[in-house]
Parts: sequence; structure tokens; C-alpha cells
Amino acid sequence: MIQLNNIQKYYTVGHNKLHVLKGIDMQVREGELVSIMGSSGSGKSTLLNILGILDDYDIGEYSLAGTLMKNLSATKAAYYRNKFLGFVFQSFNLLSFKNAMENVALPLYYQQVSRKQRNKLALEYLDMVGLKDWAEHSPNEMSGGQRQRVAIARALISQPKLILADEPTGALDTQTSYEVMDIFKEVNRKGMTVVIVTHENDIADQTDRIIRLKDGLIVDDITEVEHASQAKADILSSGK
Ligand code: ATP
Ligand code: MG
Repeated sequence: MIQLNNIQKYYTVGHNKLHVLKGIDMQVREGELVSIMGSSGSGKSTLLNILGILDDYDIGEYSLAGTLMKNLSATKAAYYRNKFLGFVFQSFNLLSFKNAMENVALPLYYQQVSRKQRNKLALEYLDMVGLKDWAEHSPNEMSGGQRQRVAIARALISQPKLILADEPTGALDTQTSYEVMDIFKEVNRKGMTVVIVTHENDIADQTDRIIRLKDGLIVDDITEVEHASQAKADILSSGK
């Protein structure tokens, strides 16, 4: 699903070039539930933004589902961003002047789906995250956990193959974090590949694999097969 070879990234700050990713080699197979950990400034968000084609890289190769993510045509970039990938942010990024249903339906607006069909699907996805009765409410009227569930429903409505989440539980209390993780685990069980950036051990422990970054390099990559269900282990070992 994801293949990174020697990915390097620089930011230019004033006259200085900041070497933020220094050669990331990483592979994520279809159906994996992976967390990325590391201290503040280690490059986690930079890496996730590259994976989500929200940012470009300077050196190396990134292939997504067999396609090199470099110099993409506008059409292809739009396809990967809007249809193939779902992105979830720590700060939810919902539109406060639209209700929950409209927020969830938004990605379909760009996909020539009729309003009726958009709203119907949005209600289904709100139901899936346990917010059926909140469709008409503004995100302003919702708790952090509810907002994040709206954001997840919005990410899921395009039925992406890959979900990327940058500290999705960072603004939530423990109980709510677990509820949000349950949703990620559920969609992962249904076959979606999920990559979550987190600095919380409790969250990372719920994933099958923990990748640790330090100063722009991977210093640890641990697969916890013993935590995975047998069915899941079978899927992974089939080499998909
Ligand atoms: P955190 O846990 O605090 O979110 P992180 O691991 O996500 O940290 P990044 O946001 O990837 O870290 O940042 C890595 C480094 O790159 C940091 O030193 C940061 O200051 C720098 N950086 C990030 N974004 C930019 C930018 N747009 N311009 C310049 N420097 C940046
Ligand atoms: Mg970050």
C-alpha cells in the first residue's frame, strides 16, 4: 500500500535549511493498523503530510498502491486526495457554519454526487459513528469527541483505502479517545489501512505496529502480532 524509500524533506527557514526527514524507509501493507510515535519535532506530521500528498518531499521515492507520488497531474492528485485517502486532524477542521451532516457530505460535493444522495450517505456515516441524532447540529454545539467522530465520518464517506490521522485523540480525554480508537479499529477490521500519529502509549498499544521516529529517522518498528486477532494475522501473512 505504502512504500517509502529514502524519503528526505527540508524546510527552508530564513537562510537555513532544516533537514526534517533524513531518509525514511518504510512499508505499510494493505489492512495494517499502524501508529507513528516520537517526540515533538521528530517529523511525524511532516511524514504524515507527505503520505497524504498534502506536502511534497525533496529526495527519495514514495509509492502509493504502486503509483509513484511525484509530479502528479492535477487529476491524479485530486483522485488520491479525495477518493483514495482520508485525513483526520487533531483540530477536527470542521466548518462551523455547516451542520454535522453537511460537514460529512462535503467530500462528495466535489465528486458529482447529487445532494439527495450526499445527505443520505452522510446520515449513514453519522449513524456509523454513533451520531445519527446530531445531523442538524453545528459542530459548535458538540463535544470534542463528537466533533472528532464527525471528522472521521467525513473522512470515511469517500470509502478511502487509507486513513491518515494526525493525533486524532490529542484533544480528547481518555474515555473519548478510546471511543475514537474503537472506530478506527472497526474500519480497519473491515479492511481499511489506518496510520495514526500519536504520542500516547495507550493509543499506540491498540495498534498492530508501532513505528518510532527520532530526529527524522525511524529508530524502532515493532509489530505486535500477539495483539492481533488470528484472522488479522492470517490476512497480513497472506502478503496482501
Ligand atoms: P509534534 O509532536 O509537536 O506535532 P512532529 O513530530 O509532528 O511534532 P513536525 O511537525 O513534523 O514534528 O516538525 C518537524 C520539524 O520541522 C520541527 O523542527 C518543526 O519546527 C519543523 N517544521 C514543521 N513544519 C514546518 C514548516 N512548515 N516550516 C518550517 N519548519 C517546519
Ligand atoms: Mg505533529
